[in-house]
Amino acid sequence: MKLSAAIDNAMPELVAIRRDLHAHPELGLAETRTSAFIARHLEALGYAVTTGLAKTGVVGTLRNGTGSRSIGIRADIDALPIHEETGLDYASKTPGLMHACGHDGHTAMLLGAARALAERRNFDGTIHLIFQPAEENFGGAKIMVDEGLFDRFPCDAVFALHNEPNLPFGQFALREGPIMAAVDEARITVHGRGGHGAEPQETADPIVCGASIVMALQTIVSRNIHPMDPTVVTVGAFHAGSASNIIPERAEIVVGIRSFDSAVRDALERRIRMIAEAQAASFGMRATVDYERSYDATINHKAETDFVRDLAIRFAGADKVVDLGRPFMGSEDFAYMLKERPGSYFFLGSRATGDEKPLHHPGYNFNDDLLPIGAAFWTELAEAYLARR
Ligand SMILES: [Zn+2]
Ligand SMILES: [Zn+2]
Repeated sequence: MKLSAAIDNAMPELVAIRRDLHAHPELGLAETRTSAFIARHLEALGYAVTTGLAKTGVVGTLRNGTGSRSIGIRADIDALPIHEETGLDYASKTPGLMHACGHDGHTAMLLGAARALAERRNFDGTIHLIFQPAEENFGGAKIMVDEGLFDRFPCDAVFALHNEPNLPFGQFALREGPIMAAVDEARITVHGRGGHGAEPQETADPIVCGASIVMALQTIVSRNIHPMDPTVVTVGAFHAGSASNIIPERAEIVVGIRSFDSAVRDALERRIRMIAEAQAASFGMRATVDYERSYDATINHKAETDFVRDLAIRFAGADKVVDLGRPFMGSEDFAYMLKERPGSYFFLGSRATGDEKPLHHPGYNFNDDLLPIGAAFWTELAEAYLARR
């Protein structure tokens, strides 16, 4: 059967899968229903199924022919702690949880490819379909790698995609080298001395000190980092106080930090610590900094990105394929798979009407029209990568 016909036949099932997953979102490392759902589908299609990697991760393995080559394709499966406001009839049944990043769609696309690959058996080698938990919070990719993902399931290369409502529908956006940033978080606590709001001279006011720290942090990117090094320092939260007549004991400032270069990453941590501690000292107070390094930068490999580009041009036409001039400042734990194996991560545009809500918005919904495109592209990618030669 032609691939397009096979995917067309599978469309009602793919939409049903996607909407079922959408109605039943689960947070990272707690995707038990999702995981069982995926395992059941893969088993029915004849895959060898391994569950339990990173708690709720699933790997479906399919061999064909005698080839020794292998490929891994990853879909993320977790949802977000967002209360859905789409009003869809298949909206989240769990208040406060939502598939607001389209991982329901990523999972359905890969299950669609799973069916087409199994039915066509048009490849020579081994395919590992990697359903990864906890992309949004706990770094499920790193946990899977640490638990021996690529020792147990050797992959010559790995690939992943993400839908992107800011890019035109059906557009493949790729980039050799850095594509997503490293992300870190600093929690700064300013330790003051509380008291009556009418007697500030008897206190050490952590709000004034904290405000000064927030402003000083703005100088790091503009004054300490090279203009050509993409960097973000965002104060995302400032908690202090409760009433106008009370000076609180402390203030807490939460900072999100994005970078690509490891020396820049080190410099950012150094400057944030120095500013927090020295600014606090200048107010006669003390600041403590809890600095946590999170996901590393996602760096695409050249040969595999060239492979995706060539295939996407044949698949969708050259007008639907763009090389991103800049990386995105968001982050992605697929970084850890790309540190272990060559591969490429790319975006698939989903903007059709222009009214689409962005990722992580309570009104966001994955565009089901992407399902056949993603399923067919993954099928062709695996088949082309493992083509008989
Ligand atoms: Zn997300
Ligand atoms: Zn996502």
